[in-house]
Amino acid sequence: MSDCDCGGHGAALKPLEEALELMLGQARALRDVERVATLDALDRVLAESQASPIDVPGWDNSAMDGYALNSADLKVLDNRLTVTQRIPAGSAGQPLAFGEAARIFTGAPLPSGADAVVMQEVCERDGDALIVTQPPAPGANIRRAGEDIEKGGELLSAGERLAPQHLGLAASVGIAELPVIRRPKVAIFSSGDELVMPGGKLAPGQIFNSNHFTLSGLLCRLGCRIIDLGQVEDTLDATRDALARAAGQADLVLASGGVSVGEEDHVKPAVESLGTLDLWKIAIRPGKPVAFGHIGDTPFIGAPGNPVSLFVTFCLFMRPFILKMQGVAGDVVPPTLMAQAGFDWPKPDKRREFVRARLETSVDGATRVLVYPSRSSAVLSSVAWANGLAVIGEGQVIKTGDNVDFLPFSELLR
Ligand code: AMP
Ligand code: MG
Repeated sequence: MSDCDCGGHGAALKPLEEALELMLGQARALRDVERVATLDALDRVLAESQASPIDVPGWDNSAMDGYALNSADLKVLDNRLTVTQRIPAGSAGQPLAFGEAARIFTGAPLPSGADAVVMQEVCERDGDALIVTQPPAPGANIRRAGEDIEKGGELLSAGERLAPQHLGLAASVGIAELPVIRRPKVAIFSSGDELVMPGGKLAPGQIFNSNHFTLSGLLCRLGCRIIDLGQVEDTLDATRDALARAAGQADLVLASGGVSVGEEDHVKPAVESLGTLDLWKIAIRPGKPVAFGHIGDTPFIGAPGNPVSLFVTFCLFMRPFILKMQGVAGDVVPPTLMAQAGFDWPKPDKRREFVRARLETSVDGATRVLVYPSRSSAVLSSVAWANGLAVIGEGQVIKTGDNVDFLPFSELLR
């Protein structure tokens, strides 16, 4: 039997949160740390908190192109000063004496004796003479030493998944290498006698293997090393063999297909004979059956073969599990947004449904969630069309204009 979209009998369905908690409770964080160049640390998870070795800025400096001066001098000298030096960014000036001003540029160190910078737009120049038409308050247009980052203060905390701005921040204090958790090794295989890899020829009844490509792409985004075990025949022996080989060399085994309880579904007995397995019927649509178990110490997650089910199972279970293994601190389940529904959902369902959806802004400026016409878990075009998943709660009915929860792919697939 496949991942059916029929309602099931309700009784045995496990709530999503319960299944997720059970699963994530068993995700053990990888301990191995490697040092990589800061530039190579993108999307990796920081293994040790980083303190700043310096103040940033390192000294008081100008926030403007203008003139550095002592604001008290202006009062005494009727707003007229003499420009005696020029301080571009990258050089250090001389102390200012009474009545002196320095031509200064953004980012250049403030000379001693100055307590303000006046922007050039409110000054007049006559040779070396400077006439300030709007005198600045003491402290104006100065970026203070340590204003951004204080020396010794925590810059980045362990468990942060490093985004471009984090790399920039590390670089801004001169950190050239970062300690990160090693990449998880994830073994994958696809079950199904009907599967042919693109490039091959389809015999009658066969289909191309798309899950391999979706899953590989999703894993690459998470920085995993993929161990590809290819396609596995629908027999118990082949499934057992693939699982044993996978578990022997990976931190995590993921598979698609064969997780139901039909005659052609061998994942359940295969995992059970090698280790332990929980096969959950989860109160979600699509992706109702999810297999979770262990072969020795190696965790295994099996998704249904339907391409949309695999995708949703990845987003809801596999991704948070991998983030946990990588030691990501804080929430590994992305937050939902709330947006206005541009559709009706008249029939309530016992299961929470993850509907392929698009958040779109129309010409009138209104942002609405639209849903794909087909709800079938076999229609992969729906995922390609979507930019997120609308989440329809258990028993929820929606009318156009109501609020609906939305999980953007920008959060789910990063
Ligand atoms: P299963 O979970 O094995 O019962 O498969 C459910 C449905 O998904 C069937 O229509 C399969 O042909 C299809 N399917 C299984 N594996 C894949 C795959 N790797 N790529 C595309 N479709 C698949
Ligand atoms: Mg199958």
